[in-house]
Amino acid sequence: METKREKSTTSNEMNAYDNALKQLERTADIIGLNPDVHEILKQPKRILSVSIPIKLDNGSVKNFQGYRVQFNDARGPFKGGIRYHPNVTLDEVKALAAWMTWKCAVADIPYGGAKGGVICDPKNMSLGEKERLTRRYTSAIADFIGPYRDVPAPDVYTDPQTMAWILDTYSQIQGHLVPECVTGKPIALGGSEGRNNSTARGCVIAAREAAKTIGLPLNGATAAIQGYGNAGSWSAILLEELGVKVVAVSDSRGGIYNKLGFDSKKVEAFKEKTGSVVGFEGTESISNNNLLELGVDILIPAALENQITATNAGKIKAKIVSEAANGPTTPEADRILEKNKVLLIPDILANSGGVIVSYLEWVQNLNRTHWTEAQVNAELEQKIITAFKSTYEKSKKLNVSMRDAALALAIERVGRAIQTLGIWP
Ligand code: GLU
Repeated sequence: METKREKSTTSNEMNAYDNALKQLERTADIIGLNPDVHEILKQPKRILSVSIPIKLDNGSVKNFQGYRVQFNDARGPFKGGIRYHPNVTLDEVKALAAWMTWKCAVADIPYGGAKGGVICDPKNMSLGEKERLTRRYTSAIADFIGPYRDVPAPDVYTDPQTMAWILDTYSQIQGHLVPECVTGKPIALGGSEGRNNSTARGCVIAAREAAKTIGLPLNGATAAIQGYGNAGSWSAILLEELGVKVVAVSDSRGGIYNKLGFDSKKVEAFKEKTGSVVGFEGTESISNNNLLELGVDILIPAALENQITATNAGKIKAKIVSEAANGPTTPEADRILEKNKVLLIPDILANSGGVIVSYLEWVQNLNRTHWTEAQVNAELEQKIITAFKSTYEKSKKLNVSMRDAALALAIERVGRAIQTLGIWP
């Protein structure tokens, strides 16, 4: 999904880092955050800005811009994905790194938060170009990552193959194989069972728990999903397994709608073949914006940031919004959804299944063991249910939204770690 991004210096609804700071500010007020901790959390601990020159297939050299932002590591090694997208900005990567920090804290896994991004258009690059880009980027940040420092993973337009290249490049530099330096890698290299659909699985479990709290039966309920990448397509398939009728899905080229629902696995196969969900048989086309405003029970934004804004939030009719994407809802839109009593499961809870199974992968790698898919899924389910319950209880206790509650829980945990470590020197 293409989103417009404004200059990073102006404070506005569409700047992701401004939004992350607004959330921090609001949470600091809600929980009475220690001002020293607040001061520390306004900035990432480290920002790496690297140039990545590679030879293109046509023989010329192109120099790409890449970032790795390490936001906070008070609770454990930095952790977070790497995004390849033409609209990547430093402010976006900073926001995503902050959100990773909160996400790992809500899930209560021993990680800090980081994120990487490279400004490129992977859809128009060959496999060879993507491999050279990935290897050169890895070499540029190699001194700052590693199993106990910072553990990358996939994000938008990166996948297990990308992780395999990172693993190989990092290992060549170290002189020995270091499988635990990345997660979301192929199973053949120590990847975890269940990691491929873990983001969606967590998101659907969270939606299921939310449905229970409002007494919504899932069998026969309807859903719309914006974005049909890894998180979106698997969310559709897993919702269907629970009896939910998926009536609309979309990707960057547009959306499809059928009020009777469709077979998401067939849609996935169609997208695999044609490059888009658009044109799938028996559906009418729908724009990404109209999809968000459909009268469905469950809405899953699974694309990019800033999709639900002050402009369209008032038109959202879904009872439950489960955020598979990072930052799809702006703080201004949050206030409107709150007023309209939409039960929103915030990104840092709803999409934490990905990093939870990344953590399980890392634990398996460090122990040189391999779990079954059933073991991984059971552990994931238990962790998401615990995070959902803690967030829900917090929201009742503080009388705030699920977003505010999740942020409160996370920032309290990170703050406690910072204060307990103390400020050196
Ligand atoms: N990119 C994913 C996220 O935003 C996964 C991160 C990870 O597994 O480290 O949560």
